[in-house]
Amino acid sequence: MSYLEINLEKIKHNAEYLKNQLEHKEISIIGITKLVLGNPSIARILTKAGLNYLGDSRIGNIVRMKKAGVKAKFVLIRNPALSEIPLIIKNCDISLNTELFTIKKLSIEALKQNKIHSIIIMVEMGDLREGVMPHDLDKLVEAVLKLENIKLVGIGTNLKCFAGVIPDAEKMRNFSGLANLIQNKYDIEFKFISAGNSANYDWAISASNLGIINNLRLGTAILLGKGGIEEAPIPNLHQDAFTFVAEIVELKEKPYFPNGIVTTNAFGEPSIFKLVKKPKKNYLIKHALLNSGRQDVEEKGLEPIDDVKILGASSDYLVIDLKNYNFKIGDRLKFLIDYEAILKAMTCPFVSKVFI
Ligand SMILES: *Cc1c(COP(=O)(O)O)cnc(C)c1O
Repeated sequence: MSYLEINLEKIKHNAEYLKNQLEHKEISIIGITKLVLGNPSIARILTKAGLNYLGDSRIGNIVRMKKAGVKAKFVLIRNPALSEIPLIIKNCDISLNTELFTIKKLSIEALKQNKIHSIIIMVEMGDLREGVMPHDLDKLVEAVLKLENIKLVGIGTNLKCFAGVIPDAEKMRNFSGLANLIQNKYDIEFKFISAGNSANYDWAISASNLGIINNLRLGTAILLGKGGIEEAPIPNLHQDAFTFVAEIVELKEKPYFPNGIVTTNAFGEPSIFKLVKKPKKNYLIKHALLNSGRQDVEEKGLEPIDDVKILGASSDYLVIDLKNYNFKIGDRLKFLIDYEAILKAMTCPFVSKVFI
């Protein structure tokens, strides 16, 4: 079996570092666990690093963490589905919301379960994913404040996710201004003025004025040590807490260029050999197959640690040019792995998760 190797100490270091760094700016962190499907070992490490709030987009992941006894406040960071409201009230302390109809249902269910459910209202600042339009915010707040067993604990926004709009100083100023207006009008002090995700990192570190923004929701920055607009490596953080390992199951000298008429691959994509000109003289490479494919991982998100080349993948094999290395059958190759590929590997039952 191929596996994801997960270094818990590196994740802990990243979380602690970010927590300290942002604490100086009076910004708290909700640690986001959706990338790792709410894996309890990882969630527990985040709480050990001092993160008291964990957020996930999937109620199933939150239930998993609670069942495993992870001690944290849990935040559902995706708009609740009506069909999941009983589970959400039972398991989540906070949810992010934009729909009055849904919040009313949360209120009814919270009453039924005799619980207080907190909500953060998300505001659309231009990225066109979730959020109430800014001119509708006041009306929604007014209605929400009347609902029983619902506590409004903040407002939030999310950028650089759908349209790719960046969280620049102007956006942040506008968002902070909106929060300020609402706080003043209704005489409330929000625990969460939650300005965004890991893409907000550069802004949070470098802006001279953070306004009244006091929270970020961070997944990528903690788990992959990357953030900001460019998703650049964050200094002093580990980018390699996750590595992917797969095993050589075929190793032969084969011609570099295929033999026959080339069309598309198994996924209907143009063959990579359609683009390269057939060399005058074909040559042999050390051609290896690894025991993982697109069902397990996304090969475009892998970067070999050794100087070998990924030629491509089918559902069940990675095809590798081993160049000058003398590997043998059964040897393992190790890869750095990006967000999307981790998500796939975490979700795949054929990839084991090995903690070190
Ligand atoms: C995924 C998500 C985050 C975290 O994003 P990262 O870029 O991984 O830090 C924050 N907020 C919301 C609403 C999300 O869906």
